[in-house]
Amino acid sequence: MGSFIDRVAVVTGGGSGIGETTAIEFAERGASVVVADVDIEGGEATVEAIEDAGGDARFVETDVTDPEATRGMVDVAVDAYGRLDFAFNNAGIGGAQTPITDYDPDDWQTVIDVNLVGVFNCLKPEIEQMQAQGGGAVVNNSSILGQVGFASSSGYVAAKHGLLGLTKTAALENGETGVRINAVCPGFIETPLLDSGGITSDPEMRKQIEGLHAMNRLGTPQEVADAVCWLCSDEASFVTGEALGVEGGYLSR
Ligand code: NAP
Repeated sequence: MGSFIDRVAVVTGGGSGIGETTAIEFAERGASVVVADVDIEGGEATVEAIEDAGGDARFVETDVTDPEATRGMVDVAVDAYGRLDFAFNNAGIGGAQTPITDYDPDDWQTVIDVNLVGVFNCLKPEIEQMQAQGGGAVVNNSSILGQVGFASSSGYVAAKHGLLGLTKTAALENGETGVRINAVCPGFIETPLLDSGGITSDPEMRKQIEGLHAMNRLGTPQEVADAVCWLCSDEASFVTGEALGVEGGYLSR
């Protein structure tokens, strides 16, 4: 895959899990990286890891539910590096694990606000900047749960399905602008998000979730990072509006 030297990337939720690994992967391929997160400690640790490895990065505290903050995030990239080539809209939360009948409406709204509205808030300034430059590549982090249902996760599933509609629409609006917009749909990936749902710490639950994938295991953040970087690369120049599974055969059954 071609190098990302002289390219600039932003990664939301870059302080943990898939976002952290993808920010590091962008930097290893030569990009300068803006790490955006509500988690200051995590975001700064990602920047430190990139700098320790000889890369270039900076942290910007960003809550993706705030449109001014996401605009500020893009401004940081442009002020520091003069452009924005890649954006990985990855920040997300799991939300409650409960049936619709018990789901608190405020909690449901929070999941939609972070996982769906948050990506819309990112797309607006990212696409504006990329259009002004004449090109760029955006990847939104959806999920296998953007393509099929999962009992007791209605807020998450609804947001991740909506994210695929948003991705396709953004791709159509930008077919001739040079800005490609795609999504990744990971299976269950071993990150702190899964820990918080007890999936990785409870051996029984872990075995059950692993068994939902044809490959009978969880995925790694690196496997998602590699797919995101491919979608951003020139090798994916005719790929837009795609929902790329990184899911070990979860959807094949
Ligand atoms: P993670 O380790 O929890 O990382 C998510 C990061 O996003 C955290 O640093 C989190 O901060 C941050 N964040 C949360 N709300 C935010 C907000 N409003 N604004 C900015 N940053 C915010 O989770 P992950 O597993 O890497 O998940 C990353 C993305 O992948 C999510 O969109 C998730 O839905 C998607 N995904 C994950 C899996 C999986 O199995 N892990 C599968 C498919 C898709 P705090 O820790 O402070 O909340």
